[in-house]
Amino acid sequence: MSHVFHRHVRTDPPIAVAGDGPYIVDAEGKRYLDASGGAAVSSLGHSDAEVVQAIKEQVDRIAYAHTAFFSNRPMEALAEALIAKAPGDLSRVFFVSGGSEAVEAALKLARQYFVEVDQPDRRHFIARRQSYHGSTLGALAVGGNRARRQPFTPVLLETHYVSPCYAYRYKRDDESDEEYAARLGDELEAAILELGPESVLAFVAETVVGATAGAVPPVPGYFARVREICDRSGVLMILDEVMCGMGRTGSLYACEQEGVAPDLLVVAKGVGAGYQPIGAVLVSERIYQAFRDGSGSFLHGHTYMGHATACAAGLAVQRKLQAPGMMERINSLGDGLHGRLEARFGNHHHVGDIRGRGLFRAIELVQDRGSKAPFAPELGLDVRIKAEAMARGLICYPGAGTADGERGNHVLVAPPFIVGAEELDRIVELLGDAVDAAVAAVQ
Ligand code: PLP
Repeated sequence: MSHVFHRHVRTDPPIAVAGDGPYIVDAEGKRYLDASGGAAVSSLGHSDAEVVQAIKEQVDRIAYAHTAFFSNRPMEALAEALIAKAPGDLSRVFFVSGGSEAVEAALKLARQYFVEVDQPDRRHFIARRQSYHGSTLGALAVGGNRARRQPFTPVLLETHYVSPCYAYRYKRDDESDEEYAARLGDELEAAILELGPESVLAFVAETVVGATAGAVPPVPGYFARVREICDRSGVLMILDEVMCGMGRTGSLYACEQEGVAPDLLVVAKGVGAGYQPIGAVLVSERIYQAFRDGSGSFLHGHTYMGHATACAAGLAVQRKLQAPGMMERINSLGDGLHGRLEARFGNHHHVGDIRGRGLFRAIELVQDRGSKAPFAPELGLDVRIKAEAMARGLICYPGAGTADGERGNHVLVAPPFIVGAEELDRIVELLGDAVDAAVAAVQ
């Protein structure tokens, strides 16, 4: 009997004992093709020799020294590597141990920044429905994932929501991308004006939406409009690239493709690529200077922030991500994956949309393609697809509540950047079988 408090308490999951490139092997010897990197984490597969070696070497030197007393070489080098490619005036990196911690740090950085610059009345966060920013109370509060928030609503910080940029569901038929982006911009601006621009701290959004709605990219011009509105009202722009950053969508930072730079950029998952737990907030020079010229310290921290071994893994991962040809490889594999998904699901009666960028793709499932009506939530289509996929030796990441927080389903596919054509074939074949079996069971 297990004494572990697992995520799902009625079933014990298989035990992972080995990693082999894009495969995970369980204690029974069964091999699983990891087509989603867990939750878009393991971007280099499960047995990268160079990352493993970097970790071993760092542990041999010094595994950890508390950041209240020391900096460490891998942390300094990783900050330099992340900033070297960062957009805009992002110039400093605050390291933590994961995505939720990084979002918490970004929210508190935003708040303390306005205290430092003598605008203490700024207290409101605006975020988007159909988003996810993490599971700790602050990150959960700004998230718009209704199901994950629901039991905790009474203890969450008040957040104000605007619409997601989700063209398949919410762009009107008579609207161009430009008009849709303008409409969403107007909505954000109206929300800021209603709260009073001098009372708003920040707007928080995932550059490409991940787990809540399934690899939803913004329409062109949307984030440029958001940037303009934030600048006009003095509101900070926080982009959460915990899932979509670090090459996942075909550029090191997803916002590069939008031509905008946020004031605070949040990354995690792909920073350590699963080899070590690490997350970070990239901070603009303007914000950093306010702390420097002001109180001199950010009133926040964790025991394990800037962990030397985690940063050593992160640095080894950056060497791979920033190697010549890596982003081209991701984009070309991503096109290949998209083409295969189109071939398998393009005429599928129950797939309404196939979307995403780079190696971050999703299919959205519908009961009826014409009306886009979703399957009834009580059918548990996501749970069934996951089980059917795992039974076939495939890891994918299905979700529910895609359309509006309650109804709708999608499956996220985010394979490691090391896959080849054969593995892409296999992923789509197994996914097709799993989806068909799950849909058949609920018809
Ligand atoms: N932000 C986004 C966009 C995420 O997808 C996630 C996790 O899925 C988080 C934040 C939280 O990250 P973590 O699970 O590492 O705390």
